[in-house]
Amino acid sequence: MKKNIKDYNLDELKQVIQDLGEKPYRAEQIFKWIYIENVTSFDEMTNISIDLRNKLKENFDLHVFKILQKQVSKDGTKKYLFDVLDGNAIESVLMEYKHGFTICVSSQIGCKMGCKFCASTGVKFARSLSSGEIVEQLLAIQRDENIKISNLVFMGIGEPLDNYDNVMNAIKILNNPKGINMGARHISISTSGLVPKIYKLADENMQCTLSISLHSASNKKRSQMMPVNDVYNIQELMKACRYYIQKTNKRISFEYALAKENNDNLDDAKELAKLLKGMLCHVNLIPINKIENGKYSKSTNENIIKFRDYLNEKGIVATIRRELGSDIDAACGQLRKKEVEKCEPTQEQI
Ligand code: SF4
Repeated sequence: MKKNIKDYNLDELKQVIQDLGEKPYRAEQIFKWIYIENVTSFDEMTNISIDLRNKLKENFDLHVFKILQKQVSKDGTKKYLFDVLDGNAIESVLMEYKHGFTICVSSQIGCKMGCKFCASTGVKFARSLSSGEIVEQLLAIQRDENIKISNLVFMGIGEPLDNYDNVMNAIKILNNPKGINMGARHISISTSGLVPKIYKLADENMQCTLSISLHSASNKKRSQMMPVNDVYNIQELMKACRYYIQKTNKRISFEYALAKENNDNLDDAKELAKLLKGMLCHVNLIPINKIENGKYSKSTNENIIKFRDYLNEKGIVATIRRELGSDIDAACGQLRKKEVEKCEPTQEQI
Protein backbone atom coordinates (compact mmCIF):
# COMPACT_ATOMS: atom_id res chain seq x y z
CA MET A 1 0.00 0.00 0.00
CA LYS A 2 1.22 3.50 -0.79
CA LYS A 3 1.94 5.82 2.12
CA ASN A 4 -0.79 8.21 3.22
CA ILE A 5 0.53 11.71 2.52
CA LYS A 6 -1.79 13.07 5.23
CA ASP A 7 0.25 11.25 7.89
CA TYR A 8 3.01 13.87 7.64
CA ASN A 9 2.98 17.18 9.44
CA LEU A 10 4.40 20.12 7.48
CA ASP A 11 7.99 19.73 8.72
CA GLU A 12 7.95 16.03 7.85
CA LEU A 13 6.41 16.77 4.46
CA LYS A 14 9.21 19.23 3.69
CA GLN A 15 11.72 16.43 4.32
CA VAL A 16 9.70 14.02 2.15
CA ILE A 17 9.64 16.51 -0.70
CA GLN A 18 13.37 17.19 -0.37
CA ASP A 19 13.97 13.43 -0.49
CA LEU A 20 12.14 13.46 -3.84
CA GLY A 21 14.70 15.99 -5.07
CA GLU A 22 12.40 19.01 -4.87
CA LYS A 23 12.58 22.36 -3.08
CA PRO A 24 10.96 22.39 0.42
CA TYR A 25 8.60 25.29 -0.46
CA ARG A 26 6.74 22.80 -2.68
CA ALA A 27 5.67 21.06 0.53
CA GLU A 28 3.82 24.21 1.62
CA GLN A 29 2.01 24.31 -1.73
CA ILE A 30 1.03 20.66 -1.41
CA PHE A 31 -0.03 21.21 2.20
CA LYS A 32 -2.37 24.00 1.08
CA TRP A 33 -3.89 21.84 -1.65
CA ILE A 34 -4.58 19.08 0.87
CA TYR A 35 -5.82 21.04 3.86
CA ILE A 36 -7.21 24.28 2.43
CA GLU A 37 -8.43 23.25 -1.02
CA ASN A 38 -9.25 19.74 0.25
CA VAL A 39 -8.44 18.11 -3.09
CA THR A 40 -9.03 14.41 -3.70
CA SER A 41 -6.35 13.84 -6.35
CA PHE A 42 -2.78 14.98 -7.01
CA ASP A 43 -3.87 16.09 -10.50
CA GLU A 44 -5.86 18.93 -8.97
CA MET A 45 -2.61 20.48 -7.64
CA THR A 46 -2.23 22.69 -10.66
CA ASN A 47 0.72 24.80 -9.49
CA ILE A 48 2.79 21.65 -8.98
CA SER A 49 4.78 20.38 -11.94
CA ILE A 50 3.51 17.27 -13.74
CA ASP A 51 6.81 15.61 -12.92
CA LEU A 52 6.37 16.14 -9.18
CA ARG A 53 2.69 15.15 -9.34
CA ASN A 54 3.77 11.88 -10.97
CA LYS A 55 6.36 11.29 -8.25
CA LEU A 56 3.69 11.92 -5.62
CA LYS A 57 1.31 9.50 -7.34
CA GLU A 58 3.98 6.81 -7.48
CA ASN A 59 4.82 7.05 -3.78
CA PHE A 60 1.76 8.30 -1.95
CA ASP A 61 -1.99 8.46 -1.92
CA LEU A 62 -4.43 10.96 -0.50
CA HIS A 63 -6.36 8.33 1.43
CA VAL A 64 -9.79 9.77 0.62
CA PHE A 65 -12.45 8.03 2.74
CA LYS A 66 -15.63 6.62 1.21
CA ILE A 67 -18.90 7.36 2.96
CA LEU A 68 -20.58 4.03 3.75
CA GLN A 69 -23.50 5.53 5.61
CA LYS A 70 -24.75 8.94 6.67
CA GLN A 71 -27.51 9.35 9.21
CA VAL A 72 -29.15 12.72 9.71
CA SER A 73 -30.95 13.49 12.94
CA LYS A 74 -34.00 15.74 13.24
CA ASP A 75 -31.81 18.13 15.26
CA GLY A 76 -29.29 18.36 12.41
CA THR A 77 -26.62 16.08 13.92
CA LYS A 78 -25.01 13.98 11.21
CA LYS A 79 -23.33 10.67 11.80
CA TYR A 80 -20.95 9.22 9.24
CA LEU A 81 -19.66 5.72 8.81
CA PHE A 82 -16.47 5.82 6.75
CA ASP A 83 -14.67 3.07 4.87
CA VAL A 84 -11.02 3.60 5.83
CA LEU A 85 -9.93 1.67 2.75
CA ASP A 86 -8.59 -1.50 4.44
CA GLY A 87 -11.93 -3.19 5.07
CA ASN A 88 -12.48 -1.40 8.40
CA ALA A 89 -15.08 1.22 9.20
CA ILE A 90 -15.07 4.15 11.63
CA GLU A 91 -17.55 6.73 12.79
CA SER A 92 -17.50 10.50 13.04
CA VAL A 93 -20.26 12.85 14.12
CA LEU A 94 -20.94 16.41 12.97
CA MET A 95 -22.81 18.71 15.33
CA GLU A 96 -23.91 22.27 14.76
CA TYR A 97 -23.82 24.76 17.60
CA LYS A 98 -24.35 28.52 17.71
CA HIS A 99 -20.58 29.01 17.59
CA GLY A 100 -20.11 26.78 14.53
CA PHE A 101 -19.57 23.16 13.55
CA THR A 102 -17.95 20.61 15.82
CA ILE A 103 -16.73 17.22 14.70
CA CYS A 104 -16.39 14.26 17.03
CA VAL A 105 -13.67 12.00 15.64
CA SER A 106 -12.61 8.42 16.27
CA SER A 107 -9.00 7.76 17.23
CA GLN A 108 -9.00 3.97 16.92
CA ILE A 109 -10.90 1.23 15.13
CA GLY A 110 -12.52 -0.27 18.19
CA CYS A 111 -11.42 0.30 21.76
CA LYS A 112 -9.56 -1.75 24.34
CA MET A 113 -10.95 0.05 27.37
CA GLY A 114 -14.17 -1.98 27.68
CA CYS A 115 -16.41 0.65 29.30
CA LYS A 116 -19.63 -1.15 30.09
CA PHE A 117 -21.95 1.61 28.85
CA CYS A 118 -20.25 1.97 25.46
CA ALA A 119 -21.31 0.46 22.15
CA SER A 120 -17.65 0.11 21.16
CA THR A 121 -17.30 -2.57 23.81
CA GLY A 122 -18.36 -5.88 22.33
CA VAL A 123 -16.87 -5.23 18.91
CA LYS A 124 -13.29 -6.30 18.59
CA PHE A 125 -10.43 -3.83 18.50
CA ALA A 126 -8.79 -3.68 15.07
CA ARG A 127 -6.06 -1.02 15.22
CA SER A 128 -5.23 2.58 15.98
CA LEU A 129 -5.84 5.23 13.34
CA SER A 130 -2.93 7.05 11.78
CA SER A 131 -2.75 10.83 12.12
CA GLY A 132 -3.80 11.23 8.49
CA GLU A 133 -6.86 9.05 9.09
CA ILE A 134 -7.83 11.19 12.07
CA VAL A 135 -7.58 14.41 10.05
CA GLU A 136 -9.29 12.86 7.00
CA GLN A 137 -12.50 12.51 9.04
CA LEU A 138 -12.69 16.31 9.21
CA LEU A 139 -11.70 16.76 5.55
CA ALA A 140 -14.24 14.17 4.33
CA ILE A 141 -17.10 15.87 6.17
CA GLN A 142 -16.02 19.34 5.03
CA ARG A 143 -16.08 18.04 1.43
CA ASP A 144 -19.44 16.36 1.84
CA GLU A 145 -21.14 19.30 3.54
CA ASN A 146 -19.15 22.12 1.95
CA ILE A 147 -18.53 23.70 5.35
CA LYS A 148 -15.65 24.74 7.59
CA ILE A 149 -15.48 22.89 10.90
CA SER A 150 -14.26 25.04 13.78
CA ASN A 151 -14.00 22.60 16.69
CA LEU A 152 -12.88 19.03 17.10
CA VAL A 153 -13.38 16.61 19.97
CA PHE A 154 -11.71 13.24 20.41
CA MET A 155 -14.80 11.55 21.80
CA GLY A 156 -15.59 9.01 19.10
CA ILE A 157 -14.49 5.39 19.01
CA GLY A 158 -11.22 4.66 20.78
CA GLU A 159 -9.12 5.94 23.66
CA PRO A 160 -7.11 8.85 22.18
CA LEU A 161 -4.35 8.60 24.78
CA ASP A 162 -3.86 4.94 23.82
CA ASN A 163 -2.93 6.27 20.37
CA TYR A 164 -0.86 9.11 21.80
CA ASP A 165 1.73 9.83 19.09
CA ASN A 166 -0.72 9.78 16.19
CA VAL A 167 -3.22 11.95 18.05
CA MET A 168 -0.47 14.47 18.87
CA ASN A 169 0.68 14.53 15.26
CA ALA A 170 -2.93 14.96 14.04
CA ILE A 171 -3.25 17.97 16.37
CA LYS A 172 -0.04 19.39 14.94
CA ILE A 173 -1.50 19.07 11.42
CA LEU A 174 -4.84 20.59 12.49
CA ASN A 175 -3.08 23.49 14.24
CA ASN A 176 -0.88 24.51 11.35
CA PRO A 177 -1.77 28.06 10.16
CA LYS A 178 -0.71 27.11 6.62
CA GLY A 179 -3.45 24.49 6.54
CA ILE A 180 -6.58 23.90 8.62
CA ASN A 181 -5.45 26.43 11.24
CA MET A 182 -7.58 25.08 14.06
CA GLY A 183 -6.28 26.47 17.36
CA ALA A 184 -5.56 24.00 20.15
CA ARG A 185 -8.21 25.73 22.27
CA HIS A 186 -10.77 24.43 19.79
CA ILE A 187 -9.65 20.83 20.30
CA SER A 188 -10.73 18.63 23.15
CA ILE A 189 -9.26 15.27 24.15
CA SER A 190 -11.40 12.89 26.15
CA THR A 191 -9.79 10.07 28.09
CA SER A 192 -11.06 7.21 30.20
CA GLY A 193 -8.16 7.99 32.55
CA LEU A 194 -4.79 6.71 31.32
CA VAL A 195 -2.84 8.34 34.12
CA PRO A 196 0.75 8.19 32.73
CA LYS A 197 -0.45 9.74 29.46
CA ILE A 198 -2.23 12.56 31.32
CA TYR A 199 1.14 13.50 32.88
CA LYS A 200 2.76 13.31 29.44
CA LEU A 201 0.05 15.49 27.92
CA ALA A 202 0.43 18.05 30.72
CA ASP A 203 4.13 18.33 29.90
CA GLU A 204 3.39 19.02 26.19
CA ASN A 205 2.15 22.45 27.25
CA MET A 206 -0.65 22.44 24.66
CA GLN A 207 -3.80 24.46 25.00
CA CYS A 208 -6.20 21.59 24.26
CA THR A 209 -9.09 20.96 26.63
CA LEU A 210 -8.83 17.75 28.60
CA SER A 211 -12.01 15.83 29.38
CA ILE A 212 -12.00 12.96 31.83
CA SER A 213 -14.67 10.27 31.65
CA LEU A 214 -15.29 10.02 35.38
CA HIS A 215 -18.86 8.71 35.78
CA SER A 216 -18.53 8.00 39.49
CA ALA A 217 -16.60 9.29 42.49
CA SER A 218 -16.62 5.83 44.05
CA ASN A 219 -13.91 3.36 43.05
CA LYS A 220 -16.34 0.47 43.43
CA LYS A 221 -18.95 1.92 41.07
CA ARG A 222 -16.40 3.31 38.64
CA SER A 223 -14.65 -0.04 38.35
CA GLN A 224 -17.98 -1.67 37.56
CA MET A 225 -18.53 0.80 34.74
CA MET A 226 -14.94 1.24 33.59
CA PRO A 227 -12.34 -1.53 33.96
CA VAL A 228 -9.56 1.05 33.52
CA ASN A 229 -10.30 2.10 37.10
CA ASP A 230 -8.79 -1.19 38.33
CA VAL A 231 -5.50 -0.08 36.81
CA TYR A 232 -5.61 3.64 37.64
CA ASN A 233 -7.99 4.37 40.48
CA ILE A 234 -9.75 7.65 41.21
CA GLN A 235 -7.09 8.90 43.64
CA GLU A 236 -4.29 8.37 41.10
CA LEU A 237 -6.47 9.95 38.42
CA MET A 238 -7.17 13.03 40.53
CA LYS A 239 -3.48 13.44 41.28
CA ALA A 240 -2.74 13.43 37.55
CA CYS A 241 -5.60 15.90 36.92
CA ARG A 242 -4.23 18.30 39.54
CA TYR A 243 -0.83 18.09 37.87
CA TYR A 244 -2.45 18.84 34.49
CA ILE A 245 -4.23 21.91 35.90
CA GLN A 246 -1.09 23.14 37.63
CA LYS A 247 1.00 22.77 34.45
CA THR A 248 -1.50 24.15 31.95
CA ASN A 249 -3.64 26.43 34.11
CA LYS A 250 -6.56 25.02 32.16
CA ARG A 251 -9.89 23.85 33.49
CA ILE A 252 -10.57 20.13 33.21
CA SER A 253 -13.95 18.93 32.07
CA PHE A 254 -15.29 15.86 33.90
CA GLU A 255 -17.77 13.80 31.93
CA TYR A 256 -20.42 12.14 34.07
CA ALA A 257 -22.94 9.89 32.29
CA LEU A 258 -25.95 9.47 34.53
CA ALA A 259 -27.34 5.96 34.55
CA LYS A 260 -30.64 5.22 36.28
CA GLU A 261 -30.34 3.75 39.78
CA ASN A 262 -26.62 3.40 39.36
CA ASN A 263 -24.75 6.68 39.81
CA ASP A 264 -27.52 9.26 39.69
CA ASN A 265 -28.69 9.74 43.27
CA LEU A 266 -27.91 12.50 45.74
CA ASP A 267 -25.31 10.43 47.60
CA ASP A 268 -23.39 10.07 44.31
CA ALA A 269 -23.60 13.84 43.82
CA LYS A 270 -22.32 14.41 47.38
CA GLU A 271 -19.37 12.10 46.84
CA LEU A 272 -18.59 13.85 43.55
CA ALA A 273 -18.76 17.33 45.10
CA LYS A 274 -16.35 16.19 47.83
CA LEU A 275 -13.93 14.75 45.27
CA LEU A 276 -13.86 17.85 43.07
CA LYS A 277 -13.95 20.50 45.81
CA GLY A 278 -11.61 23.38 45.03
CA MET A 279 -10.57 22.04 41.64
CA LEU A 280 -10.47 24.17 38.48
CA CYS A 281 -13.07 22.11 36.65
CA HIS A 282 -16.44 21.77 35.03
CA VAL A 283 -18.80 18.81 35.20
CA ASN A 284 -20.59 17.80 32.06
CA LEU A 285 -23.64 15.72 32.96
CA ILE A 286 -24.65 13.39 30.17
CA PRO A 287 -27.98 11.61 29.99
CA ILE A 288 -26.61 8.15 29.10
CA ASN A 289 -27.40 6.84 25.63
CA LYS A 290 -28.98 3.41 26.01
CA ILE A 291 -27.21 0.84 23.89
CA GLU A 292 -28.44 -2.54 22.76
CA ASN A 293 -27.60 -5.23 25.34
CA GLY A 294 -26.28 -2.50 27.65
CA LYS A 295 -27.29 -2.83 31.29
CA TYR A 296 -27.44 0.91 31.90
CA SER A 297 -30.38 3.10 31.05
CA LYS A 298 -31.01 6.83 31.06
CA SER A 299 -31.62 8.59 34.34
CA THR A 300 -34.86 10.54 34.84
CA ASN A 301 -34.89 14.26 33.98
CA GLU A 302 -35.81 14.98 37.59
CA ASN A 303 -32.72 13.17 38.92
CA ILE A 304 -30.45 14.81 36.35
CA ILE A 305 -31.64 18.28 37.35
CA LYS A 306 -31.35 17.52 41.08
CA PHE A 307 -27.83 16.20 40.52
CA ARG A 308 -26.79 19.36 38.66
CA ASP A 309 -28.40 21.69 41.19
CA TYR A 310 -26.65 19.96 44.08
CA LEU A 311 -23.24 20.34 42.43
CA ASN A 312 -23.92 23.98 41.60
CA GLU A 313 -24.97 24.66 45.21
CA LYS A 314 -21.63 23.25 46.32
CA GLY A 315 -19.77 25.61 44.01
CA ILE A 316 -18.99 23.04 41.29
CA VAL A 317 -19.90 24.29 37.83
CA ALA A 318 -22.08 21.60 36.27
CA THR A 319 -24.16 21.66 33.11
CA ILE A 320 -26.35 19.11 31.39
CA ARG A 321 -25.21 18.24 27.90
CA ARG A 322 -27.83 18.83 25.26
CA GLU A 323 -28.89 15.52 23.81
CA LEU A 324 -28.03 15.49 20.15
CA GLY A 325 -28.86 12.87 17.59
CA SER A 326 -31.05 10.78 19.92
CA ASP A 327 -33.11 9.58 16.92
CA ILE A 328 -30.00 8.21 15.16
CA ASP A 329 -27.30 5.78 16.33
CA ALA A 330 -25.45 8.66 17.97
CA ALA A 331 -23.78 6.83 20.86
CA CYS A 332 -20.14 6.22 20.08
CA GLY A 333 -19.64 2.91 18.32
CA GLN A 334 -23.28 2.07 17.58
CA LEU A 335 -23.08 2.47 13.83
CA ARG A 336 -19.80 0.59 13.51
CA LYS A 337 -21.19 -2.14 15.76
CA LYS A 338 -24.15 -2.63 13.40
CA GLU A 339 -21.83 -2.70 10.41
CA VAL A 340 -19.55 -5.29 12.02
CA GLU A 341 -22.51 -7.40 13.16
CA LYS A 342 -23.59 -7.73 9.54
CA CYS A 343 -20.36 -9.69 9.03
CA GLU A 344 -19.60 -11.37 12.35
CA PRO A 345 -21.21 -12.15 15.74
CA THR A 346 -20.49 -9.74 18.60
CA GLN A 347 -18.85 -10.90 21.82
CA GLU A 348 -22.24 -10.78 23.56
CA GLN A 349 -23.65 -13.20 21.01
CA ILE A 350 -20.79 -15.70 21.34
S1 SF4 B 1 -16.31 5.11 26.25
FE1 SF4 B 1 -14.48 5.67 25.06
S2 SF4 B 1 -12.83 4.72 26.23
FE2 SF4 B 1 -14.69 3.70 26.92
S3 SF4 B 1 -14.91 1.88 25.59
FE3 SF4 B 1 -16.07 3.56 24.63
S4 SF4 B 1 -14.65 4.46 23.16
FE4 SF4 B 1 -13.42 3.27 24.64
